[in-house]
Amino acid sequence: MTRILDLLDAGRCFSFEFFPPKTEEAEAQLQQTLVELAPLRPSFVSITYGAGGTTRERTHDLVVGILRSTQMTPMAHLCCAGHTKDELRSILARYRDEGVANILALRGDPPAELHLPPGDLAHAAELVQLAREIGSFSIGVAAHPEGHPASPDLASDRKHLAAKLAVADFAVTQFFFRLEDYLRLVDDLAALGCDRPVIPGIMPVTNLSQVTRFAALSGAEFPADLATRLEAVAENPAEVRRIGVEVASQLCRDLLEAGAPGLHFYTLNRSTATREIFATLGREAVANWPSGPARSR
Ligand SMILES: Cc1cc2nc3c(=O)[nH]c(=O)nc-3n(C[C@H](O)[C@H](O)[C@H](O)COP(=O)(O)OP(=O)(O)OC[C@H]3O[C@@H](n4cnc5c(N)ncnc54)[C@H](O)[C@@H]3O)c2cc1C
Repeated sequence: MTRILDLLDAGRCFSFEFFPPKTEEAEAQLQQTLVELAPLRPSFVSITYGAGGTTRERTHDLVVGILRSTQMTPMAHLCCAGHTKDELRSILARYRDEGVANILALRGDPPAELHLPPGDLAHAAELVQLAREIGSFSIGVAAHPEGHPASPDLASDRKHLAAKLAVADFAVTQFFFRLEDYLRLVDDLAALGCDRPVIPGIMPVTNLSQVTRFAALSGAEFPADLATRLEAVAENPAEVRRIGVEVASQLCRDLLEAGAPGLHFYTLNRSTATREIFATLGREAVANWPSGPARSR
């Protein structure tokens, strides 16, 4: 069993995030993406969870499918919102019994139209503790470099994040576009006595309207100069992608130079942008990381 904490102890990790597809066509697209990204030998891949349990079985099946039929190490996202403690215990025990070693413990925001009761656990930190009772998982949590959009202020968000990281092993960030937002997060955590690894989340811009929508939802500020550059070529999707890959590659380089413990790519179940960034970063950056089946199994 490969635990992400052990990989992080050994060096930098790079990882890819996927969501469970809803249709046969989307399933075929994801399988193709997995085949195309496998040669990059990611340290781990993570699978999102629909808050309130909307993808409960699909997330489970994809995580276990990757564990059993590929060489990649999966991490299962799990959201506590809308679930009872018993439901969460049973989801976690099933993962434990199937040999899934890595959990990303989240609160989640169930869609309002589900009209779900809030659930037994109010915050992700409580899910981390519940997971610790169930199995010897390596447990990650979410971090928001610019603060969680619903937090009353940045200082209280940082305090809650530091408390969450005191029980978890590592964090993965929401995507962001400015190096200084990540550096400030790490500095703020250090000032609170927290030195757990924080893996930066990278979202290459391949589609302007999609990313501005995501950024509005996640609280990540989309830099005005990048928006202007992309709007100028909005009619030319290939040029939008080229600029998006160039900007994301530079951010990755800067993050690694600044000492980030790895990179986590929001792939949106596509491989091209991630592969292009890896090609730009250079093979040696990837080769020296504690990743992939040859070293981890
Ligand atoms: C890497 C990553 C992966 C994600 N994957 C998914 C996914 O698969 N599915 C999904 O639905 N969503 C996902 N999300 C989104 C996430 O669920 C939302 O951002 C959600 O609103 C907050 O989740 P959290 O785990 O950060 O919650 P929490 O850590 O519980 O924080 C939520 C809010 O409560 C505050 N808070 C925390 N503890 C306390 C406390 N003790 N008292 C008072 N306030 C407190 C925090 O400051 C914050 O404002 C992901 C986010 C990231 C960054």
